[in-house]
Amino acid sequence: MAETDQIPAEYAAADHQTLTQRIALRKRELGNRLVILGHHYQRDEVFQFADFTGDSLKLSRQAAEQADAEFIVFCGVHFMAESAEILSAPHQRVCLPNLAAGCAMADMAEYADVAAALDELRAMTDAPIVPVAYVNSTAAIKALTGRAGGACCTSSNVRKVFDWALRPAPDGGAGGRKVFAVPDQHLARNTAAAMGYDEADLATYDPHQPGGGLSAEDVERATFVLWQGHCYVHQLFTRDDVERARQDEPEATIMVHPECPRAVVDAADRAGSTEQIRAAVGEAAPGSRWVIGTESNMVERLAREHPDQSIRVLSAGRATCVQMARIDLPHLLWTLDAIAAGEPIHVIRVADDVADDARTALQRMIAI
Ligand code: SF4
Repeated sequence: MAETDQIPAEYAAADHQTLTQRIALRKRELGNRLVILGHHYQRDEVFQFADFTGDSLKLSRQAAEQADAEFIVFCGVHFMAESAEILSAPHQRVCLPNLAAGCAMADMAEYADVAAALDELRAMTDAPIVPVAYVNSTAAIKALTGRAGGACCTSSNVRKVFDWALRPAPDGGAGGRKVFAVPDQHLARNTAAAMGYDEADLATYDPHQPGGGLSAEDVERATFVLWQGHCYVHQLFTRDDVERARQDEPEATIMVHPECPRAVVDAADRAGSTEQIRAAVGEAAPGSRWVIGTESNMVERLAREHPDQSIRVLSAGRATCVQMARIDLPHLLWTLDAIAAGEPIHVIRVADDVADDARTALQRMIAI
């Protein structure tokens, strides 16, 4: 992740009203030259300025379609801005308002470690291994995946991508006998379980141990090798939370994100990506009750959007992505002012060769 720049005092010290007024003015002034993207987990005060909202991939694709937009300001985290940069047109610049807004899960999978792991695994078995990189990964990991014959996945399409990875090549698949899933072990474990595989079909690669802590027999036996990464926000939710919610609100539907641990997904009524959660609530009848296991900003916003339903987060306290929260009004205004001054800051750049290979992995996913 890139280094943090020190925000000038005039932005850090400005009050809420001044910041919101100046951001609104800058937006008007920049007009079609600017598109602001807001991820569902973003705080409201920033989210209100988004021209488009959604999950990371949907936002990147929408941004790329705004041909007039010279500047794409991504109010998300670093890997999302990288994806937008990879999918954007050459004349577009992508800015992340605060370069310290990384993703703890993406940072658990360093390029050198994953490349070494793939080599080790391929040395341990003759069975073809297809890497699948969750979009919550760095551009370098996506590029490695593209070069190694694999594809990216999102939490919405991961099952389709796993099916493709294991399907014989003559049937349109990648011809793999094993999937190497990076970086989220929970998304992969929950998806493999939904496809009918059990724990005996999985092996977890621990990057802190030689050979990932796996023997050749472990690798030979497994259909899925899971990188030992996780999202700390979704790991906050526990099976106890689900059982307590069931006791307190027996009529509520408990729906959780597949980045939650397997025990939580098993105990819940449904699992789905951010877009699938939003769709489920959007289609529900008035009076429906929901207890939702994902980031609090999104759940609280859903509750405000659907006042005719009862919607609350699964945990007792808030479940917040602190990296996402590093995008705040002062950083947004600072970024817009710099664009207006003709000296854009926090521009995300992905080297051409990395972008080309990462785009291959993303395009394979889109084609699946
Ligand atoms: S919620 Fe988790 S996976 Fe999503 S950006 Fe934050 S740390 Fe990364």
